[in-house]
Amino acid sequence: MPPTTKRSARPHSDHDHANCVTDAIARAEAVCAERGARLTENRRRVLELVWQSHAPVGAYEVLERLRKDGTHAAPPTVYRALEFLMEQGLVHRIESRNAFVGCPQPEQRHAAQYLLCEGCGDAVEIEIGGLARKIVSRAAELGFAVAAQTVEAHGLCSRCQQIGA
Ligand SMILES: [Zn+2]
Ligand SMILES: [Zn+2]
Ligand SMILES: [Zn+2]
Repeated sequence: MPPTTKRSARPHSDHDHANCVTDAIARAEAVCAERGARLTENRRRVLELVWQSHAPVGAYEVLERLRKDGTHAAPPTVYRALEFLMEQGLVHRIESRNAFVGCPQPEQRHAAQYLLCEGCGDAVEIEIGGLARKIVSRAAELGFAVAAQTVEAHGLCSRCQQIGA
């Protein structure tokens, strides 16, 4: 059983987000090096663009951001990069928004849960101990084989509640 890890994703601008990005890229490099996966320049740039904030971004938005960089990128390039990042657990897909968000702790494979703010759009990844396993085992009792699970809670983060968003 993997140890319970502390989630470090902190939404909003009350923190130095540059640190989040630097940390995410460093973790990605370490994870890929350890697994022998190639974090190409393009994949790294896509990861950086996903990490531009804590709000999930769609593939099209990533493409737009790349083009703003002056990088000529075709949609399949972006999709393939996102696929690679998902396979490596460096980004997660937020199903309800058809968008992607960076994982703050990609070292261990995990099924996470998300708190999605409807005010600012931020996604906070949480991992409730044993929840993913419970879903799998309860499903198995019903003869159901879980291939993937998406647990998303929608609402307002503390700051958006304060500003009455
Ligand atoms: Zn941040
Ligand atoms: Zn994660
Ligand atoms: Zn919010």
